[in-house]
Amino acid sequence: MKKHAIIYHEDFNKYDLGVDHPLIGDKPKNTMAFLKEKSILSQFQVFTPKSAAEADLLTVHDSTYVEHVKKLSETGGWLSEDTPAPKGIFEVASLATGGSMCAGEKLFEGFEITVNPLGGFHHASKGHSSGFCFFNDIAITIEYLRKKYKLKRFMIIDQDVHHGNGTQDIYIDDKTVVNLSFHQDGRTLYPGTGNVETIGREDAAGYTVNLPLPPGTGGVSYLKAFEEIALPITRQFKPEVILYQSGVDSHHADPLADLNLTYQTYYHLAKHVADLSKETCQKLLVLLGGGYNSIACIKSYYNIFCGLLGNKDFLEEEEIPDADPEQVINTVNQLKQYLSDYWTL
Ligand SMILES: [Zn+2]
Repeated sequence: MKKHAIIYHEDFNKYDLGVDHPLIGDKPKNTMAFLKEKSILSQFQVFTPKSAAEADLLTVHDSTYVEHVKKLSETGGWLSEDTPAPKGIFEVASLATGGSMCAGEKLFEGFEITVNPLGGFHHASKGHSSGFCFFNDIAITIEYLRKKYKLKRFMIIDQDVHHGNGTQDIYIDDKTVVNLSFHQDGRTLYPGTGNVETIGREDAAGYTVNLPLPPGTGGVSYLKAFEEIALPITRQFKPEVILYQSGVDSHHADPLADLNLTYQTYYHLAKHVADLSKETCQKLLVLLGGGYNSIACIKSYYNIFCGLLGNKDFLEEEEIPDADPEQVINTVNQLKQYLSDYWTL
């Protein structure tokens, strides 16, 4: 048996929000083709997922919201200003969610790293959503695994350039989930949330971790911050499963945001996360997340796979100097201060 698995369905490529929309439908197919060309795919067993059932969606979302998406999907329409709802999107979003659930389940059938190339819809909250997301597959997978395997400690590492506001809303009061998000500062980017002082409520204080980064942050500052925050928290929390939203819209060529990460940053980040999984639970669920420059995105995903596998054949490009490294250091220090009662950092 192979050690790792990818969940893939041809219909993943139907998650397409229109020709003028940044979310390009054929990304899963292109990712698979590139992995095949680079001889990475052969290290993964490929599974075809089933759609999430409506009962699965309802473990996280309100029934009125699920009905609303279903209605929109019948006629076509808009979920929000930035998120068109094309006909049939209910089925496609349910399939994407089923992909993440299947990937989660495979970790308990002996696989160490599993990947859903159409996952990580972190803007979907219980009763509303925007940001190209319909159902929060991260949370639905957590609830599925929690029930099926009686788990108590989930670690989310969300490196997408946008703050995962939906996931945060769902777990802000829940100390069984550490939700760690690195993102561009909400004062300069959608969705506007994810302040450093938002750390979770009451007995779940310390379990929401936000590092907002200023525009122009490069890979060197980012990696250093990741090493100082994400590594110790994950080691101290000792998760039973790690869910890694490995969005690559923080790449300097991405059209939607202003961070300046390079290809090699993704290699090092994914390597860190894979090492954390090895040290703790040996169960790493990877959801490829955002990325809107189609070429940079596929290459960045490739480097994530290299990092996950420890494959030295990763892509490199010239590093971009940080616009304001001092500000990153200050924010990291502020975050450490806010978290000092909960973690040793
Ligand atoms: Zn994003």
